[in-house]
Parts: sequence; C-alpha cells; structure tokens
Amino acid sequence: MKKLNLTSKIFIALILGVVTGLILYPVRDNAMVDKYIINFLFKFLGNGFLRAVKMIVVPLVFCSLTVGAAGIEDVRKLGRVGLKTLSFYLGSTAVAITLALLVGNIVNPGKGVNLANLTTAGSVTVGQSKPGIDILLDMIPSNPVAAMVEGNMLQIIVFAILFGVAMALLGEKVTVVRKGFEELNNIILKIVGIVMELAPFGVYGLIGKTFATLGYSAMFPLLKYFFGVVLALFLHYLITYQGLLIGFARYNPITFLKKFSSTMMVAFSTSSSSACLPSSLKTMQEEFGVSKSISSFTIPLGSTINMDGTAIMQGVATIFIAQIYGVHLTMGDYATVILTATLASIGTAGVPGVGVIMLSMVLGEIGLPLEGIALIMGIDRFVDMFRTTVNITGDAICTLIIAKSENEITPLESVIEGERA
Ligand code: ASP
Repeated sequence: MKKLNLTSKIFIALILGVVTGLILYPVRDNAMVDKYIINFLFKFLGNGFLRAVKMIVVPLVFCSLTVGAAGIEDVRKLGRVGLKTLSFYLGSTAVAITLALLVGNIVNPGKGVNLANLTTAGSVTVGQSKPGIDILLDMIPSNPVAAMVEGNMLQIIVFAILFGVAMALLGEKVTVVRKGFEELNNIILKIVGIVMELAPFGVYGLIGKTFATLGYSAMFPLLKYFFGVVLALFLHYLITYQGLLIGFARYNPITFLKKFSSTMMVAFSTSSSSACLPSSLKTMQEEFGVSKSISSFTIPLGSTINMDGTAIMQGVATIFIAQIYGVHLTMGDYATVILTATLASIGTAGVPGVGVIMLSMVLGEIGLPLEGIALIMGIDRFVDMFRTTVNITGDAICTLIIAKSENEITPLESVIEGERA
C-alpha cells in the first residue's frame, strides 16, 4: 500500500510538472517567472533531489556490489552469474541496436528533412568521446580511492567486485568485515528509502523545468527522429523484453509493469540510470523477492553498463544523420555501428545526456560528420527520458531471469496475494 502511494504520488507530480511547465513556457522570459519559479523553485526541488540521489550512488554501488559478490559464497557460482549477466547485457544491447537500425531504415527519419531549418539552433560544442580500447583500459582503476572521489562508476564496479570476490575467497577468516559491510549496506538502503520519499518533489521540479524551458515547439522539425527512437524503444520493450519475461523468467508482463512502474517513472523524469539505482534495487528485492546476492550484483552493474535504450537512440540517430547529409551506409557500416554502439553504451555514464556525447564515437567510426549531433541535441532531453526508462527496464528483466535460473526468487506473501487478487 505504501509503495502504491509513492507510485501515485510520483505520477501525479509528473503530470503536474508537465502542466505547470507548459503553462509557464510562454511567459518563461518574464523576470519573476525565470528567477523565482524556473531557476529557484524548480531548480531547488529538481537539483536538490538529484544531489541527494547522487550522494548515495557511490557508497551504494560499492557496498551493494561488494556484498553481492561476497554473498555468492560459491566462487564458481559467482563466475557463472557474472558470465550470464555479462552475456545477457551485451547480447540484449546488440539486439536492441539491430532493431534500431531496422526501424531507422523503415521510418527513414532523415529523408526529406530540411537541413537549413535544423541548423538555426546555433552551434553546439560536441565533446570528444574515447576510442574503444580506452573504454576498456579505463575500467581498471589505477587508484580506487580516486575512482570513488570522482564517482567513476566502471572503476568502482571493478574494484567492488574484486573486493567482494576476495572476501568470498577468504570465507570465514573475514566474517567480521563481511558482517560490517552487510550492516553498512542496510544503512545505505535505509537512506535510499528516505530519499525516495522525496522523489515526487524532485520529479515535479525536473519535469516542470524541462517543459518550461523547452516547451514543445522546438520539437517539431525533429519529430520524425523522435518517433523513430520511441518506436524502436517501444518495440524492444514489447518484443525483446516481454518475450524474455514470458519465455525465460516465466513472469507475467502486466505484474512486472505494475511493480516496476514507479522505478520507470523515476527513470523517465530524472533521465538517469544512476538515479534509479536505489529505487530499482529496492523494488527488485522487496517487490519481486529477488535475493540480495543476485540483485546487488546485477542491478548496479546493469545501471552502469547495460544501456539498450541508449544504443537504440544511437542507431536511429546514426541513420538520421547519415540521411540528412546524404551519406549511404553499407552493410560494413551497419556492422561497425552495432559493435561501436554496444561499446559506447557500456561507456555511457548513467546520467542525463551522456549517450548523445558517446554518439560521437559511433559517428566517428563510420566517418559521419559530428556536427550532426548538434541537430539532435535540442530534443535530446525528451529522447533521454524514454531511453533511460528502457535502460533500467533491461536491468530488471536480466535480474529476474538470472534470479529465476539460479532459484533465487523468494515468493513474497504480498506478491502471492497480489496475484490472486
Ligand atoms: N541518461 C541515460 C541513462 O542514464 C544515458 C544516456 O544519456 O543515454 O541511462
């Protein structure tokens, strides 16, 4: 009941945010509106919530992964779960991007688009992305403390897993430390619960600010691209995810949606996989009954490296940009896009707007002009909301499948009752 209340509160906040934002959009230049509502009230609520969430992300990832890895005492099982998780994450991302390329070729988002209309948005500086090998090398922390200070998620993950594996290998010799980490993890999860109670306010501020500053008029020239991405995301959810849920996890997709929708709304409004981590973890454990040892491993890992939605955006965007510039893509180019977008999505941090920066890696590999990114940046915040929702849904589905295959789902009282009702 309590959970349901929070979900409805978040949903109401979302709608209120859209409505307030759209009402304020025409008067956004008014000094009072700009100063006191958009840049004070909305900013305080939205950014305050994001800061509170960020505050818990580093300790949460470190503790939960350490406890998760150490909790799988049987080291062979840890290897098995790790391998399954990685294969699932990489495989589903490759499927996602293939689907995006198919949809892109059917929708043809960039055909007939007038470049002149789009470039009036002004010049946008596009950050340089790194080559693939550097993404792999960068995963190894040369200084784990620095990684935590900088919030470098991939490095923290590598170190946390190593730490947990070492603990599992030492077994009884480090019982005190392990217990300490478990308790620390509980404390952090408690903080998560407290912060999540504030989510409706944060969601209201974030959505209100987005709609008040961007409105929807800016979106029209790029609607085709937008709908191409959303269609591919939707199909991925409908076909790939629901298929996996029914076929492998033997889980009712409607029940899944009911339980996971509050986390999806957090993703939609924050556009940040990292920001959803606390909520995802809590939901998987408390609503789905997935064991801590599995969910503490798969969810933090997934929120950092598994970004199917981002890969889908990169696929459709590549086609969009190629079509706008009149570049013909070969089969070889498509294969390169699948490979680099999978890598790029791994390297994408779970915060708003990074996916579009990483797109430069994909475009660079097949020689498309990076300026193309400037065209889609104007509406990227909207696209980000949808793709982030898919990103974190993929993590949850993988978690359910792995938990099911390892027999690590506890039937919860409330779950059984809920299903009977
Ligand atoms: N915002 C996305 C996420 O957090 C990453 C992206 O920009 O694609 O999952």
